[in-house]
Amino acid sequence: MIANYHTHSRWCKHATGEFSDYFRKAVELGFKEIAMTDHVCHRYSWCWLDFNDIGEFDAQLNAAIEEYRDRIKILKGFECEYLPEEMDTYRYLRDELGYEFLIMGQHCDSTGRINAFNITKPDEVKAYGQSVCEGLATGMFKMLAHPDVFLTEYKSWDKTCEEVFHDIFTTCESLRIPIEINTNGYRGKRGYPSFEMLEFSKGYDLRYLINSDAHDPEHLYDEPVKACEREVAEHGIHVCETFAKTK
Ligand SMILES: [Zn+2]
Ligand SMILES: [Zn+2]
Repeated sequence: MIANYHTHSRWCKHATGEFSDYFRKAVELGFKEIAMTDHVCHRYSWCWLDFNDIGEFDAQLNAAIEEYRDRIKILKGFECEYLPEEMDTYRYLRDELGYEFLIMGQHCDSTGRINAFNITKPDEVKAYGQSVCEGLATGMFKMLAHPDVFLTEYKSWDKTCEEVFHDIFTTCESLRIPIEINTNGYRGKRGYPSFEMLEFSKGYDLRYLINSDAHDPEHLYDEPVKACEREVAEHGIHVCETFAKTK
């Protein structure tokens, strides 16, 4: 691994480490590129960054980028839910503050009512899938994080999974949006990354990125990332080394 595009800091209140701790570790690991993608601020309960803190957050991130700019390429981003009423906020962050690497991590449906970690019913899977496809179609997001997040509780691979992933993969294929193989699920022993999903995905012309989804600088290239890399290779999935190579 030489790049990581999914990274959280202590600002999202369930991760540890300052921005500079991540950049120092990434340089030590010989990474060429890193994107900071804390959970974006929005009105729902699983958001931890307070919009009132964005000024201080942005100032500290800019200062850390300045300190490391000669040693590593750093992208400013956020992990975002697709929530139609929040799109103006995302546009502001992207266009005014330079958070150009917005990734879609859909932890809910587009009404904010369904929590993707607690999905147990086919109708909820369909609502999740529909919001992912609608969100990607806006063109706001550079990558789809953990498309298989709902398999945390929705344990059985079935017809509904196939229908929903068909829609998601067709959308990613036509918009050339890479999908993430998320090793935080591996780290947390959740239902993702799902190798059933990855096998199914071989029917589509997709680009893949393995990301740490680090919540601690020590996660950046830890054993779960390496184990996931090995398993992905055994499944014959080709992973792009950098975002640029997904294009
Ligand atoms: Zn996430
Ligand atoms: Zn994340």
